[in-house]
Amino acid sequence: MICQPTDCPPISGIDIPATRAKYLVERDRRIRKEANAQYIEAAGDFADMYEVDPYTPVTPRDPISARTDVVVLGAGYCGMMVAHGLKQAGIEDFYIVDHAGDFGGTWYWNRYPGIQCDNDAYCYMPLLEETSYMPSKKFTDGYEIQQHCQIIARTFGLYDNALFHTLIRGLRWDGQLNRWHVTTNRGDDIEARFVVIANGPLNKPKLPGIPGIQDFKGKIFHTARWDYGYTGGEWKNPVLDKLGDKKVAIIGTGATAIQVVPHLGRYAGQVYVIQRTPSSVDLRANKPTDLEWFQSLKPGWQQERIRNFHHAAMERLAPGEPDLIQDIWTEISRNLSAELEAEGWPDITVEEFMQRREVMDYRVMERLRRRCEEIVADPATAEALKPWYRFLCKRPCSNDDYYPTFNRPNVELVDVASTQGVERMTEKGFIANGREYEIDCMIFASGYEVTNELHRRWAIEPVAGRDGLSIYDYWADGFKTFQGMMTNGFPNLFFTGFTQAGVNATNSATFIAQGRHIGYIASEALKRGAVTVEPTQEAQDAYIAQLRSVAVDNSDFVEACTPSYFNNEGDQTKKRHIFGEPWGPGFYDFEDRLQRWRDAGTLEGLALTCEPVAA
Ligand code: NDP
Repeated sequence: MICQPTDCPPISGIDIPATRAKYLVERDRRIRKEANAQYIEAAGDFADMYEVDPYTPVTPRDPISARTDVVVLGAGYCGMMVAHGLKQAGIEDFYIVDHAGDFGGTWYWNRYPGIQCDNDAYCYMPLLEETSYMPSKKFTDGYEIQQHCQIIARTFGLYDNALFHTLIRGLRWDGQLNRWHVTTNRGDDIEARFVVIANGPLNKPKLPGIPGIQDFKGKIFHTARWDYGYTGGEWKNPVLDKLGDKKVAIIGTGATAIQVVPHLGRYAGQVYVIQRTPSSVDLRANKPTDLEWFQSLKPGWQQERIRNFHHAAMERLAPGEPDLIQDIWTEISRNLSAELEAEGWPDITVEEFMQRREVMDYRVMERLRRRCEEIVADPATAEALKPWYRFLCKRPCSNDDYYPTFNRPNVELVDVASTQGVERMTEKGFIANGREYEIDCMIFASGYEVTNELHRRWAIEPVAGRDGLSIYDYWADGFKTFQGMMTNGFPNLFFTGFTQAGVNATNSATFIAQGRHIGYIASEALKRGAVTVEPTQEAQDAYIAQLRSVAVDNSDFVEACTPSYFNNEGDQTKKRHIFGEPWGPGFYDFEDRLQRWRDAGTLEGLALTCEPVAA
């Protein structure tokens, strides 16, 4: 049934045990024993795919040898929210460092055709009220998001602190100076009192480890470094008019490829979409922002909306709480609320609620499979494009043009699930299902180093704390933190993102909260004349024990998912994974606790030391 996201009736009559069994079969045929090791790093021959900025010329400069209060590693949403938190806390003397040529992080690097945020921009784009900014549509274009990053940076004076085209290579604690040595690819050695690692999870592109990948003589590039010189068009006007006589293949059918493929279909002579696991793709029904509605919003609306989205996507809507978001991300909660409302909000246990949520999950995923079947004309192609896993095993997508693209005569789906990926690349193209496909260009929509292997994800060597202890060794068996943001043995170092903290369904909201907390701790330490601040071993142990005592065990769900970076490619042997160990009672409970901790003003659990006073 093709329906608007807001009015899709739940499908009924699904054979859930049979569907569950099918999910497991589909998972098993995709699990590769090499797990994350199947991917090639963007290093060596492929280093340019990570290190070179094709968009902004690099301005030569001398190496910097300087002292500063803070170095923030990363100028994407995460680093910007940390920098904002530092400024709010009164810290002005810091660098925000990034190897990009401007603010934006993933929104700077990713300029591929069709790029938009694919969850509600009114939640996702941070500090909208503070910057008096109205997104032009619900799912905003990538270049608009990057421009809004520039607006944030100008509003809060972040350009004064920025150090672009600078890749941090090493972080080493100096116990004599009580500072971090921050070394970079530009020969800098910055002595920072504090360092904040704010590099986000989608920082470093990765490539599929296909045998013969180096043999291919045609054009290759990663979607995170789109080559408009080759394809024609540009970021704001992706008319790929140089592809008319080209045979193009794209590897991957994740959130990025779903946005790119319709553009390739429209312009390229021949397109091969190489798929191992299909995404779920709903109707997008993107709409321009209704000016009257936007102007009617009352102060505080964005935080309220973010809270509502978080409830619908990660927790549960309270009785009578409306779903403000009204898209695929909130459909399960929306449907479930409607059912419970019709039953007069019965008093059900958490377990009963989760069981009903699971049933609704099957019904929504079945709706998405039927949607695919109704749009894609060729039954075999439609069958191969159906997602067989639970909602949120992979990122849910929406796109009005993706499925219709497979009805074009110049587009072919190449399903490689049975061989767990492309068999080989050759000088002229690639081999899949025993056939060689000759192509001019291979585009890798193969994702990022979102992996348990932190040294791959961060690409900083060393990260060495007290007595040279490596963070990669110290955390080899999982995160060990206090409040998810500091760790014993690594004074004055802060972490962000998915560690052992509260996580909001809106990433930028998590980063704002972490920026606020880090700004508070760093400014308090400076005000108190401290040169080091570090969690005590006891406080860290107690925090981890408490975190685990309230943890929500979702391992059954994660293990049953088809492999992807969401579940460390199906390898559950390592404790840490992309989503870390989030605070079980939820983001807002965590926030309230941190607020109370800050209000107490005692920095409980942290040890501070001051410079010895000369006799
Ligand atoms: P993903 O990691 O989600 O997808 C990578 C794709 O490459 C998968 O389809 C994967 O298949 C495929 N692949 C990898 N190796 C092989 C192989 N050897 N043979 C065939 N296929 C292979 O990367 P994306 O860039 O799509 O998305 C990453 C994240 O970026 C998203 O999850 C999202 O968080 C973010 N994003 C956000 C957007 C937004 O808000 N607008 C838009 C785009 C991305 P398999 O699934 O089988 O592993």
